[in-house]
Amino acid sequence: MAQTIWIHKLSDPKKKAEADGMDYICEHLFQALTQSGKLTKVNGWNPFDKAGAKDGTTYRALFCGTCGKNYNNGNVRMAKEPVLV
Ligand SMILES: [Zn+2]
Repeated sequence: MAQTIWIHKLSDPKKKAEADGMDYICEHLFQALTQSGKLTKVNGWNPFDKAGAKDGTTYRALFCGTCGKNYNNGNVRMAKEPVLV
């Protein structure tokens, strides 16, 4: 089974622009953004125009290097609440 990739919605248009126009980011980029207030390419930078969830919904999402490698169509899920570790 592929690992789930959790994504978070970017509500700030400025952040969307920083994320190459993507609407969502993976939890790792989200955590880095929460901590530093900036999107960083340190962990990798993989924009997906159509990141697919299990129900067939697709999202414009930016993944870090790890999530970019783990991505399989259908293993993306939207985080309704911030994921706290
Ligand atoms: Zn990630």
